[in-house]
Amino acid sequence: MIVLVINAGSSSVKFTCFEMISDPKVLANGLIERIGLDGTLMKYSNHKGDEAKREVTVKNAEEGVKIIAQKLVDSKIGVLKSLTEVKAIGHRVVSGGEYFSDPVVVDARVKEFIDKCSVYAPLHNPHHLLGINACEATFPGVTNVAVFDTAFHIAGIQPHAYLYAIPYELYTEQKIRRYGAHGTSHDYVSRKAAELLGKPRQNVRAIVCHLGNGASISAVAGGKCQDTSMGLTPLEGVIMGTRSGDIDPAIVWTVMKLKNLSPVEADNFFNKKSGMLALAGIGSSDLRDIEAEHKKGNKQCTQALETYAYRIKKYIGSYLAALGGADIVAFTAGIGENSATMRALILKGLDDLGIKLDAAKNSERSGEARFISTNNSPIKIAVIPTDEEQEIAKQTLALAIVK
Ligand code: AMP
Repeated sequence: MIVLVINAGSSSVKFTCFEMISDPKVLANGLIERIGLDGTLMKYSNHKGDEAKREVTVKNAEEGVKIIAQKLVDSKIGVLKSLTEVKAIGHRVVSGGEYFSDPVVVDARVKEFIDKCSVYAPLHNPHHLLGINACEATFPGVTNVAVFDTAFHIAGIQPHAYLYAIPYELYTEQKIRRYGAHGTSHDYVSRKAAELLGKPRQNVRAIVCHLGNGASISAVAGGKCQDTSMGLTPLEGVIMGTRSGDIDPAIVWTVMKLKNLSPVEADNFFNKKSGMLALAGIGSSDLRDIEAEHKKGNKQCTQALETYAYRIKKYIGSYLAALGGADIVAFTAGIGENSATMRALILKGLDDLGIKLDAAKNSERSGEARFISTNNSPIKIAVIPTDEEQEIAKQTLALAIVK
């Protein structure tokens, strides 16, 4: 049984092709990046170790999906005999608003709702729709499933945690509220955290730190999300690669006036030109570069790392209060899984709260889910690799089989 997972963005289409055995196997994955720009690049690799990387002419998502389909059945590096082997296609969709608390089989009405939710994810949802349309055209008759980044949060978070203190009709009429994002990852990692603890998920309180280029923290109890750091859009919360995270809202209109920015330019400023890119000042938002500069003695980079860690520490503290304690703090995604330095910086000084890091375990390199807390730490600390694609594939297959 083959399931394809598609993540269509503004200028890229990423894909993973799974064979859905008990532990789903990646047959091929890759992406087409810089769509519609000069130097559009296609990267493809398969489970046999074959790789292809070449410039392609791709004007839009539909052309991108066609090229991916061609590669999947290519006589040399393909992994399928025919596209009809694809049972279903799962699409990552950033926002499902309040409409979707579960994945859903895509039809015309679902597409309408995804379109409506573009107001909450203007940089993402329109491109997801293009990806869905492209798959419908390229894989006729195949079930498309939308898996929403917001669903896990929508299903769990209660009004006291999702309402903003602005006129209530903005919630009732315009649905302005906290939606969060990275829900598929928070769901997956909190489930794995319970497995690692060897406890039923129902009895576990977890604080999940998804720290990638985009980053969010969530408080999960009994398998339900209680709170999360991203808000109406992915801009709120901890500091990210290029997003400011939490700021005094007055900064927005102050900067707009100072720099003479339109709302669209301001959106771009706080989403693309802020965060670690702005704080570290080395022209890169990649934590590896910032850590390397810090090691060379760049004080602004040191300060940026400390600011980043401090903000996350505050979220962990607030979620400990929100959950009335925790069983586990789990780190995931690019930074959470790979940066022992950042994990140590975040967790420094939390021993008295019952969160005790084991420095040696923290430094070990491993791609496996594992504890990095001391044996006597009342609250366990873990590194748990996330796998959003696999989770999307599993949820997609479950719906496709029912259909
Ligand atoms: P993601 O969005 O989850 O793919 O995470 C991407 C980010 O993870 C990159 O921008 C890097 O900042 C960070 N990252 C990946 N590997 C490392 C590493 N070994 N050390 C520090 N940061 C890393």
